Amino acid sequence: MKQIIFIVIAVFILWSGYQTHQHPQLKFNSLADRMSSPLDTRLHYRIAEVDSRFKLSIEQVKVITQQATQIWKDGTGQDYFVYDPNAKLAIHLIYDERQFESEQRREHLNQLESNQQVWLDKKEQLDQIEREVVQNKQFLDFKQQLLNQQIQQYNQEQLSTQQNQSAFENPEYAQQRQQELQRKIELIQQEINTHNQKINQLNQQVDELNSLNQQLDSSVKQYKQRFQPHLFHKGLFNGKQILIYEFESEDDLKLTLAHELGHALGLQHANDPQALMYPMMQDQDMAHFRLTQADRNLLLAR
Ligand SMILES: [Zn+2]
Repeated sequence: MKQIIFIVIAVFILWSGYQTHQHPQLKFNSLADRMSSPLDTRLHYRIAEVDSRFKLSIEQVKVITQQATQIWKDGTGQDYFVYDPNAKLAIHLIYDERQFESEQRREHLNQLESNQQVWLDKKEQLDQIEREVVQNKQFLDFKQQLLNQQIQQYNQEQLSTQQNQSAFENPEYAQQRQQELQRKIELIQQEINTHNQKINQLNQQVDELNSLNQQLDSSVKQYKQRFQPHLFHKGLFNGKQILIYEFESEDDLKLTLAHELGHALGLQHANDPQALMYPMMQDQDMAHFRLTQADRNLLLAR
């Protein structure tokens, strides 16, 4: 009897060694799981802990993790993972300064975007005023030209009257015309003054807009300096647990989980910036992510 047990255990150990070699993820499953279903090559995982500050329930994280495992399934046609409330591999969402920083980044970004919108609105407004000023200038030029013609005509008439000593010229009428012209000159002068004031105001506003633009530029620079593209240390697989520290959206969490699950499959990092296993999250298509050839090559090479 003892011999039979020994043989069974020896066969299991040999089988298990073979299986682990073929499917490195199996070493993170519990012995009980492996003995009860020796043909199951899927990595069992559970959700152990979700800090309430992430504002996600365990159930929500479970769904997102299933979506993360689906990335591997869709990209390879193989089932590598299964949810199991008794799994050895536990996923923890731990809130610390990383997530806090991530929230700060989003707030800063929202602020930047709203400042940019203010700038754009203001610019559009000023462009409109500028068009009006240009039009007004054309109109004023035209009026001034007309008035100059009238003044010239009046002066010529006065000159010829003096030369001809014409008795027909009525001095009162001449004075009236002169006064009228004088009034027109004053009116147009007022309009020119108003126009110049508008130009001054416009120039001031353009100056303000330019300094706003400089402020925006420097806030963008500050933002870029403070919030550089983040490495995948926002998550960690330590052989027993997957620890998630930071994500900026559910898609980001999904990819971060999928990345760490990739490490649990025994994968290293890939060189392709669009790959899931690239150590940085920057160029991946977050919303419609699919495994890249570089990710699949890592699986083939393990
Ligand atoms: Zn990594």
